[in-house]
Amino acid sequence: MTTIDYPQLYIGGTWRAPAGHDSIGVYSPATENRIGSVPRGTEADIDAAVSSARTAFDAPDGWANWDPKERADVLERFAVELEARGAETARRVSMQNGMPIWLAQQFEAGFPPLLLRYYSDLMTSAPVEEPRVGMLGGASLVSKQPVGVVGAIVPWNVPQGISFLKLAPALAAGCSVVLKPAEETVLDAFLMAEAAAAAGVPDGVLNVVPGGREVGAYLVEHPGVDKVSFTGSTAAGRWIAETCGRLLRPVTLELGGKSAAIILDDTDLAASLESFFGCTLLNNGQICWLNTRVLAPRSRYNEIVDTITDLARSLTIGDPLDPETKIGPLVSQRQRDRVEGYIAQGKSEGARMTTGGSRPFDRGWFLSPTIFADLDNNATISREEIFGPVLSLIPYSDEQEAIAIANDSVYGLGGTVWSSDAEHATSVARRVRSGTVGINHYVNDPVAPFGGIKQSGMGRELGPEGLHAFQVYKTIYLPPVPDQQQATQL
Ligand code: NAD
Repeated sequence: MTTIDYPQLYIGGTWRAPAGHDSIGVYSPATENRIGSVPRGTEADIDAAVSSARTAFDAPDGWANWDPKERADVLERFAVELEARGAETARRVSMQNGMPIWLAQQFEAGFPPLLLRYYSDLMTSAPVEEPRVGMLGGASLVSKQPVGVVGAIVPWNVPQGISFLKLAPALAAGCSVVLKPAEETVLDAFLMAEAAAAAGVPDGVLNVVPGGREVGAYLVEHPGVDKVSFTGSTAAGRWIAETCGRLLRPVTLELGGKSAAIILDDTDLAASLESFFGCTLLNNGQICWLNTRVLAPRSRYNEIVDTITDLARSLTIGDPLDPETKIGPLVSQRQRDRVEGYIAQGKSEGARMTTGGSRPFDRGWFLSPTIFADLDNNATISREEIFGPVLSLIPYSDEQEAIAIANDSVYGLGGTVWSSDAEHATSVARRVRSGTVGINHYVNDPVAPFGGIKQSGMGRELGPEGLHAFQVYKTIYLPPVPDQQQATQL
């Protein structure tokens, strides 16, 4: 098989030699074969990227000072170039992290152009400056300015979708960006850089420097960065929050989760299995907002355990590039080891494993979907984020208790309520302490803010709120007109 190897980095609008000599090798989690490589970014590459981004932002005719409509034209071309590469983007993501290809086509190929257009429209549909008549004489001109150079750090699980939660609003607002992809998923990021170059995104507005946590940490602390936008683990997010606190640097954090699905006693779960799968085991269990705790009423507990066990057993496991595959491999051997550690922990704490827990193939980092029943919410696997296809089924006696269990978590990112009565389910959803909750489904719609509370993060992406995350307010006090001046002096 031919591999995809990039010898250069995309910095300052050109492909240039990296400062260092190391490379990042990329391996297929399905075959364990090497599928490509990119140069490993270094601190010197981050310096060059931030410098290019600064110039693009600070220049008098720079991106920040363009009319939003002119930026929207460029971002439309970017969307078109991404669409032209959509099939290859989906294929690369699927090959790198094991995401089933049908999902990669939606999340990785489809979502980014949608977001670019949504934020371009938002940015051009309302004036940037708003005059306000004053109460103390004169008037004020209130504007939303782009926050500056953004350091964007993303994980491997939904690499393009998550990158564009940051890139689309940041670029539409007039910011320039240094993107640091995760080491596991770099080939899609380089394809995205090719699309940006083909679209004529101005030099330095978008720079891509791949590397590990050291390079990411260097970017977070870089004096040329005005704002950090991070998606990843709570552990890394905590360090980034502390660092940005010390630097007084604005930061958005999208972190981990342990969300709950509350199944109310009138739910026809068998009729909603497709949607339930999408909320619990999507992307091989590797999505931050997945409902990995499933709360079932005691009155129907055995039946619900059986339904979910049957669902898990029915899922086709295999090559992520096969459109029939529902469950692909975990991203890496390390990740599978970690998940297997949690499965062992679940067993040792006395949970009943109804299915799964095994490696279905000799090759690749696969793990069959695993269901644990008869748990309480204090078990380790009910409390900690596993990031794999493992669900904890927890019984509850009444709705009050279900809500209390859902809220008994250090996290607060997602969640769902299942019922045949949408109005009642919505009243339950209002009482769940979480940034987002779905009723009988869950979808990150571009128009509505997404993000977490508690240890799931700070700030919001998507919606107008996601644009505001890359803007700062500026007020210009206009001079009083002579009559008003006199009035003020009196
Ligand atoms: P991770 O935190 O290890 O890495 C994420 C990214 O941050 C990578 O690019 C990594 O190189 C970089 N990084 C790590 N430590 C850093 C540091 N100290 N400074 C700067 N950069 C650093 O996370 P992961 O294991 O790759 O991803 C899985 C985690 O991401 C899970 O906890 C998951 O819940 C979370 N996640 C959250 C969301 C969300 O929107 N809330 C979305 C996807 C994933």
